[in-house]
Amino acid sequence: MGKSTLFNRICGSRRAIVTSVPGTTRDLLNQDVEWLGTNFELVDTGGLFGASADPLHNEVTSLGLQALSSATVIVQVVDGTDGLVPADEEVASHARRVGSPIVVVVNKIDKSEARTRENDFHQLGIAPVVSIAAEHGLGVGDLLDAVVEKLPGRKARDPRVATELDRQGTSEIRVAIIGRPNVGKSSLVNLLTQEERVLVNAEAGTTRDSVDVRLVWHGRQFRLVDTAGIRRPGRVHRSGPVESVSVVMARRAVSEADVAVLVVDAAQPIARQDAVIAGEAERAGCGIVLAANKWDLVKDQGADFYRVFDTELRDAIKFADFAPVMHISALTGERTPKLIEKIFDVAQAREMHIGTGELNRFIDRATKRHPPANLGRREVKIKYVTQVATRPPTFVFFTNIATRFHFSYERFLRNQIRSEFQFEGTPIRLRVRTGRHKSHESKRG
Ligand code: GDP
Repeated sequence: MGKSTLFNRICGSRRAIVTSVPGTTRDLLNQDVEWLGTNFELVDTGGLFGASADPLHNEVTSLGLQALSSATVIVQVVDGTDGLVPADEEVASHARRVGSPIVVVVNKIDKSEARTRENDFHQLGIAPVVSIAAEHGLGVGDLLDAVVEKLPGRKARDPRVATELDRQGTSEIRVAIIGRPNVGKSSLVNLLTQEERVLVNAEAGTTRDSVDVRLVWHGRQFRLVDTAGIRRPGRVHRSGPVESVSVVMARRAVSEADVAVLVVDAAQPIARQDAVIAGEAERAGCGIVLAANKWDLVKDQGADFYRVFDTELRDAIKFADFAPVMHISALTGERTPKLIEKIFDVAQAREMHIGTGELNRFIDRATKRHPPANLGRREVKIKYVTQVATRPPTFVFFTNIATRFHFSYERFLRNQIRSEFQFEGTPIRLRVRTGRHKSHESKRG
């Protein structure tokens, strides 16, 4: 059922003997494993239960039972293509008697039989149930997340919101403050840090040096990069027309950033430059928050102003329709605390990883309602999907034949994923591959 394959997959080595004959893994194999800063020892029990003519079987079984009784966390691997079988119930009841937390792992989820049967395993009454394809390395990260989660001293939480930020607790969120000259970038940085470390000047395009400012907000660390002050680089050519200083500055800042705050001046019409600068952030895969600054100047213009302004802003920056809009004033400080909260939320969404099982169940449902267009006379089928990366969230769709979808179908899939799993403010990348080549899930982080 794939325990040894999984073991090897986790250890990155070929220590266990993997053959197609059941019960050929004889030794108990122990291996120290580190996953995202947590160390634990992995024990492969060999074949545990069931009858066998193998003279070593009883010995292996008793060693396996010993290992089981001393385990801090038990991982029960079941074969998804077989569905729930009596032997699974037997293993589960042994495991339950030990009293340690159990994780059920449904293997071979790359096969459609396994996908239709994976829900059956909830009947074991054990949570969580994690789906993987050990041979392809799919979902192994989810499994390790679930194991680490069950180790003593860890608080339980929804695996859907597992993020790097949570795990590390202390990681710094890098924030690029970008926008045209004079929209209030430096004022905003100053206000947020309550320090006069950044020079504010009402004159557009004054030359200063770039400043990184550290900010701690409710125990969360941010590093703000104010692009207003970076020295004017002279005329910059890039494939033709001269680009504005703000665009060049933004490009530099976003390449290092987790979240870009595009500051626009609410008292001015939205300009093409605003969109060009936002485009730099989107291309870099940053999270984006749109900050409509100087709201103190326009807030008396009536209730309708919000709607008109937001519509104009959205129309100008259609490609970043996922970005939340915040109406702020760097002068009065209105809603700037909310802005920081929002930056944090977006940074978290950008680091979120969705488990392979849950993702495939959702995509199966969504694509049933609205399947991809056929390629000529051949029907395009999505075989499975997996999130291969975070920052930004990146999903690979494996299909039978198609290597790309129509852009409107990609948009549909992106929107579905975004709203179901609440990927607020972050770009989502999709890739489409045929399932012929084996893919390996990359270790995140
Ligand atoms: P930057 O070039 O984008 O860094 O813009 P600055 O921070 O230098 O601000 C440009 C001008 O706009 C200055 O005169 C600021 O005092 C003013 N300003 C910045 N934020 C606000 C705001 O929220 N409300 C108002 N009324 N003025 C602002």
